[in-house]
Amino acid sequence: MKKYKLKSISRLSPSSFELVMEPVDIKNGLDFYPGQYISLSVRNGSKKSTFRCFSISSAPSNDGEIRVGVRSGSRYTKLLEQAELNSLVEIDGPFGEFTPDLEEKRPLILIAGGIGVTPMISILESLQVYKLNRPTQLFYFNKSSDDIPYLEKIKGFNKSRIFVSGSFKEDNSLEVGELCQESLSEALPEKLGSSADYYICGPAGFMKKATDILRNSGVPEANIITESFSSTSKNQSVFSSLSFATYILAGFLIAGSITAFAAKDFVKNLLKENDSRESENEVIDNTNNYYTDESSTNTHQQPSGSQSTQRSSTYQSPRSTAS
Ligand SMILES: Cc1cc2nc3c(=O)[nH]c(=O)nc-3n(C[C@H](O)[C@H](O)[C@H](O)COP(=O)(O)OP(=O)(O)OC[C@H]3O[C@@H](n4cnc5c(N)ncnc54)[C@H](O)[C@@H]3O)c2cc1C
Repeated sequence: MKKYKLKSISRLSPSSFELVMEPVDIKNGLDFYPGQYISLSVRNGSKKSTFRCFSISSAPSNDGEIRVGVRSGSRYTKLLEQAELNSLVEIDGPFGEFTPDLEEKRPLILIAGGIGVTPMISILESLQVYKLNRPTQLFYFNKSSDDIPYLEKIKGFNKSRIFVSGSFKEDNSLEVGELCQESLSEALPEKLGSSADYYICGPAGFMKKATDILRNSGVPEANIITESFSSTSKNQSVFSSLSFATYILAGFLIAGSITAFAAKDFVKNLLKENDSRESENEVIDNTNNYYTDESSTNTHQQPSGSQSTQRSSTYQSPRSTAS
């Protein structure tokens, strides 16, 4: 677990904001690959928030600074938005394999919907900062031209196309359009050949649609990589809990001497007990939403099918290569 502190909070769009965090000890910052995510918890006095995952939206840097872009709107994200500057932030990770090799020469196509653009920002910024030449194009889809996270930054990236499907205000850098075969046409195998890699991140329906378009256009399955922001937190919080595993083991030892029916009842009761313990840990009242006592064990949110292994890539984070 790395210790960071909250350096600043700034607005990205009406419904999103960015947290900038710096390591408490500069020598102990996080090494990560562009596109990876972290799990974080913010401290407020003697309480700390539950953990949530956020894709890193900055390039690896020597000072260890990390940015995350957050879609506001829930009680949890409000807690982050209202956190006091210099609050301690505990960071676990990095996680994930949404990490294209930026030294490859084959085309890289990034397809993002809404706040799903955060890992793409890290990837695009890394290409720029470290002068890597992988040919890359971003296709970015939003509902309203008034609410586009990272709009100004994206305008600065070469070859980005930003589509708006709903409310549209005239802007030369924006196009009216939605995710469909036509809007992606210049990135499909007919134009690009079959060697491009496609990285997709956005709401579940958006990712399914993008994947379907790519498959139907003949993109090989192995070249389609997705990142899901929806968690299987309920399952994870039950099955990844160490204390729960201990209970299960004990349950099976006892179950050896009782009937199969009784054993089934026993495990069922343990499951219930663990569930209620977790809801006690996650304090949800009007004043302290999502804060837990410091002493409690926070369970980490993980995305569906997530892995905590780092992708082996020839591209190294500058923090790990810096002498
Ligand atoms: C890999 C990954 C990357 C992500 N990147 C971003 C990003 O860059 N930007 C962004 O805005 N969002 C991102 N998210 C989504 C983010 O983690 C939150 O899910 C989102 O902010 C909504 O949080 P929430 O608490 O409102 O709801 P959810 O996380 O959807 O939780 C819904 C409910 O489940 C329960 N719950 C959830 N987790 C736990 C837990 N650990 N213990 C107990 N109960 C729990 C709570 O009661 C909660 O109300 C990412 C998610 C993943 C998995």
